[in-house]
Amino acid sequence: MSTQFEIRGLTASIEEKQILKGIDLKINGGEIHAIMGPNGTGKSTLASALMGHPKYEVTGGEVSLNGEDVLEMGVDERALAGLFLAMQYPSEITGVTNADFLRSAINARRGEGNEISLIKFVRQMEAKMKELEMNPEFMHRYLNEGFSGGEKKRNEILQMMLLEPKLVILDEIDSGLDIDALKIVAAGVNAMRDEARGFLIITHYQRLLDYIKPDFVHVMMQGRIVKSGGPELAERLEAEGYDWVKEELGIVDETVGQA
Ligand code: ADP
Ligand code: MG
Repeated sequence: MSTQFEIRGLTASIEEKQILKGIDLKINGGEIHAIMGPNGTGKSTLASALMGHPKYEVTGGEVSLNGEDVLEMGVDERALAGLFLAMQYPSEITGVTNADFLRSAINARRGEGNEISLIKFVRQMEAKMKELEMNPEFMHRYLNEGFSGGEKKRNEILQMMLLEPKLVILDEIDSGLDIDALKIVAAGVNAMRDEARGFLIITHYQRLLDYIKPDFVHVMMQGRIVKSGGPELAERLEAEGYDWVKEELGIVDETVGQA
């Protein structure tokens, strides 16, 4: 089934401060949407609110994935329903190896009595790690502990490849990646492009979009999507920055602001 993901009028706040001020976005399976915008405009907040991060309070709006109400679900239920977030700053978890973590996540999705065999899991993990040019020793390292910025990002993509989510959110996956790593990560994402899966790619820079071609580009400012277009919008932002958008819309301070 082709995935349908829809956000309507989403508002969210953190510590009483309203950050998201009404987000509307529809993503169909097979589509790649990019959200671009300067720092402090609410991009990561959108990602966290969609995943159900407890620090962010959704104060209004609706989110649905294939007709199911996402906002009703806990974080684990969202993951099981097929939402996936590659975080801007992935957490380190001491005591849990990468392999243990991934196998648990896969088995949670497959359900009791249908667990993946160890040998099959190891083969899959090894194959995907090879695609991402990751050292096999990362399988047995504690999750993200002591990983460099670039290694953490590859590891997020490894999780995505193994979990086969329906809606993939990548938050600044390009930050901390050199050009070779960026190409590898982009190839991983492109290989996952499929009717069953939509993508929301958050990025500050256009560079990533040279390798992952978006169908739609949205600009976020002041906690809203203020402009949408095709790939040409990203190209203009790369060439001219964000000032022309601010001028066109009469925006003085693009950040979410204080209070
Ligand atoms: P972006 O990802 O576009 O740079 P963020 O969503 O991270 O923007 O941040 C938007 C605003 O929300 C900023 O003003 C930021 O300071 C505030 N904010 C985000 N997360 C937190 C947090 N955990 N605690 C306090 N303020 C936060
Ligand atoms: Mg951010």
